[in-house]
Amino acid sequence: MTTITAKINKWNPEPEIISKAAEILRNGGLVAFPTETVYGLGADALNAEAVKKVYEAKGRPSDNPLILHVANIEQVNELVFINDTAEKLMKTFWPAPLTLVMKAKNIIPLRTRGGLDTAAIRMPDNPTALALIEATGRPIAAPSANLSGRPSPTDFESVFNDMNNKIEMIIDGGSVEVGIESTVIDITNPEKILMLRPGGMPREILEAALQKKLEVPDDQSKKKSPGTRYKHYAPDIPVFIWKRGEKFPEVYKKNNFAFMGLHEPDIKADGIILFNDVKNYARGLFAGFRKFEKEKFSCVVVEWPEDNSGIGEGLRDRISRAGGKS
Ligand code: AMP
Ligand code: MG
Repeated sequence: MTTITAKINKWNPEPEIISKAAEILRNGGLVAFPTETVYGLGADALNAEAVKKVYEAKGRPSDNPLILHVANIEQVNELVFINDTAEKLMKTFWPAPLTLVMKAKNIIPLRTRGGLDTAAIRMPDNPTALALIEATGRPIAAPSANLSGRPSPTDFESVFNDMNNKIEMIIDGGSVEVGIESTVIDITNPEKILMLRPGGMPREILEAALQKKLEVPDDQSKKKSPGTRYKHYAPDIPVFIWKRGEKFPEVYKKNNFAFMGLHEPDIKADGIILFNDVKNYARGLFAGFRKFEKEKFSCVVVEWPEDNSGIGEGLRDRISRAGGKS
């Protein structure tokens, strides 16, 4: 398959590009598009055949459900049962890197929700993504637009690298703002709201709005969020984690290792990316992995961020999974 690519003005997307992409989606094809978190690989969420192609293109396990992306709150009503907590969070925060797991209605094919009786929904904070969903007139199921297990794509080149010739179209909206995926919470039981995946929306902000703590899912709930089970986000070169103040991983004895983090280590790395804060670290992590992999470094050492607040919790999660610790 030849993949069409189109560069778009992310803040003011050209209508011709949006209508072409929407047509592809309505006809059951796949389109990769920018969101504020990472690039998504979109399909019509209500078309089981189209959704099947998403799993095939990514090599994604079929029990790992997809997030449905919507452009307005009215659309959500058709898809899931909305409780008061959902209502409040949607009104307060959307569009945002916040995904809500709610009780699904039958209109959502089982394939989209990985066979579960719940579905995950989000309204992305990106004008191109919103225009595309609007123009398609359907919810768009969109996992990250990478091959399963690889670092999520945060720019066009990364999507192209993984998806060229596998999907109908890629929309190039430049680099994303957040850089890691959305925060996923399960609100089916308002008494016990579960943090399924930390991400772009900080825990503290949600807890302040809900006036309660988010709880850790037990094994049963984890089973229901299979995405949390697989090793994820890793480049093809080994990732080692370094905590500042602790011994540097022995890899420095090898030649040609790369480093990424907030503070320059005493040991000189052959390739280095330093970020001035945690936000930029989150934004640049996956692109950094892909860069060092492409430049054939033997491995990459990443600094463990001390700050667990804000996006720090999500960043730690991605780093520990890329390092194989989950
Ligand atoms: P991804 O699309 O790769 O960013 O991953 C989506 C995340 O949402 C994964 O961790 C999934 O396991 C999780 N997810 C999607 N739908 C559901 C659902 N119905 N229940 C629980 N977790 C879900
Ligand atoms: Mg993903």
